[in-house]
Amino acid sequence: MCLAARKGADTVECRLDLLDQIPCADEVQSLLASAPVDTIVTARPERQGGRFGGDESTRLELLRHAARFATFVDIEDDVPVAQWPKGRIIVSRHDFSGNMPQLQQIVRNLEDSSAEVVKVAFTAQGPRDALRALDVLRDARKPTIALAMGEEGVASRIVCAKFGAFGTFASLDSESPTAPGQVTIDQMTGLYRWNDINADTRLFGVIACPVAHSMSPAIHNAAFGATGYNGVYVPLLVKAGAANFTDLMDELLSRPWLDWLGLSVTIPHKENAIAYVGIGNCDELSVKIGAINTVVIQASNALRGMNTDYGAAVDSLCHAMGIERAGLGGMKVSVLGAGGVARAVVAALSYYGAIVTVHNRTHERARALADEFGCDWKPLDQAHATAAEVIINCTSTGMHPNVDSSPIASLPGGVRVVFDTIYNPLKTRLLVQSSHQGARTVSGLEMFVNQAAEQFEAWTQIPAPRSVMRDVIVERLSRDQ
Ligand code: NAP
Repeated sequence: MCLAARKGADTVECRLDLLDQIPCADEVQSLLASAPVDTIVTARPERQGGRFGGDESTRLELLRHAARFATFVDIEDDVPVAQWPKGRIIVSRHDFSGNMPQLQQIVRNLEDSSAEVVKVAFTAQGPRDALRALDVLRDARKPTIALAMGEEGVASRIVCAKFGAFGTFASLDSESPTAPGQVTIDQMTGLYRWNDINADTRLFGVIACPVAHSMSPAIHNAAFGATGYNGVYVPLLVKAGAANFTDLMDELLSRPWLDWLGLSVTIPHKENAIAYVGIGNCDELSVKIGAINTVVIQASNALRGMNTDYGAAVDSLCHAMGIERAGLGGMKVSVLGAGGVARAVVAALSYYGAIVTVHNRTHERARALADEFGCDWKPLDQAHATAAEVIINCTSTGMHPNVDSSPIASLPGGVRVVFDTIYNPLKTRLLVQSSHQGARTVSGLEMFVNQAAEQFEAWTQIPAPRSVMRDVIVERLSRDQ
């Protein structure tokens, strides 16, 4: 409890059902009476997802005793009111297997009880369930906790602060969550700046699958913090498929009171995003690429789509070469790879007049990409013989954890600049090779910072704190390795 208090918790939940054995009355008293912060005492039975090992009368007796020392007692809604402990009551309903289809009616019933606080926690079956939890808070008639559990519900645990939730739950560390999808208290207060979230906070997020390891929440929340912008950015796990993307977007847009202003979009939804936003609402190059990574939600739900990857890549290269985008005209560039990033890079380089050769392991993909943008193509294993002055690696070869591999065996003579779009590690094998051979090197870090900075500016209309954003990634990468 002291550790939780030191980490910033103003209330600690004491889960008596998670102790190794049922505590005696004296143990409960000494645990609760000495608490440095407010306490909620809970002894969740198995029927509502807990692990209390004793019978119901032992459980209720224990809670009645605990009520004398705790700030609140959490009691399940299936316990008859006559058996409730005397004290300040949180009446709760948990569903660890479903998403509580009758949510509204359940909440009304809990509100009609004599409890001071209402709590519902159900299992998210998709990201729309996080929004259903927010609906409960918006309409609440009593102090309320409403949470969608699981990875698809994470946003509800953070964003609930905007809607005046009575509280949220965070774990002491990543090893000890008491429910699925809990973030740690360090993440809640540090990464998501829980204490700064209020009714005026604007919402942002990243749509991806998987999403857990995305660095975008770290980079954007740090940028909000550094600029004093009142926003919070959350992960949104949306499983593959256009229907899933469309469903979440429809649900978000149908709730203008969320103040949801922007989204990052990444694998596997970039093509779904441009289809949803509509090519008429995207810039020319994004339409040529056929994929966007940024959605801006404007007044009256007018949407704008952008692909900030291509501009970020081109600007990283131009910055390293000390030229403007127009200076790319006539430059010979070999692009390694024919996937999503290669497509954005090839489209942008062709647009600015570079002479591009696409090299890829799978020849058919190289040919298709080259044909589409009027370029040449060659097998990847011929890239060491290219006559290009610039090489851009858009393959995943060399990315963590395969840090000892490189997409080309040796650097051809005449190459002045090598740009590796990989940012983990910051110095790939290819870049080490290239700098040994005297080429100027550009890390994918610059591209990553640039694409996020352009998103930030499109959403907020304020200059992005690029050095803060860069530092966050460098710090995260060094910590994760
Ligand atoms: P993608 O669509 O899956 O494409 C992967 C590419 O890598 C394909 O060309 C694939 O060739 C090639 N490849 C994979 N394994 C290979 C191997 N063992 N040998 C040779 N080629 C191989 O991925 P993406 O979205 O384009 O991302 C590519 C890389 O870009 C990522 O690894 C990431 O590091 C980097 N990236 C950087 C940023 C940034 O902001 N800096 C952002 C996103 C991504 P085949 O066609 O033959 O399969």
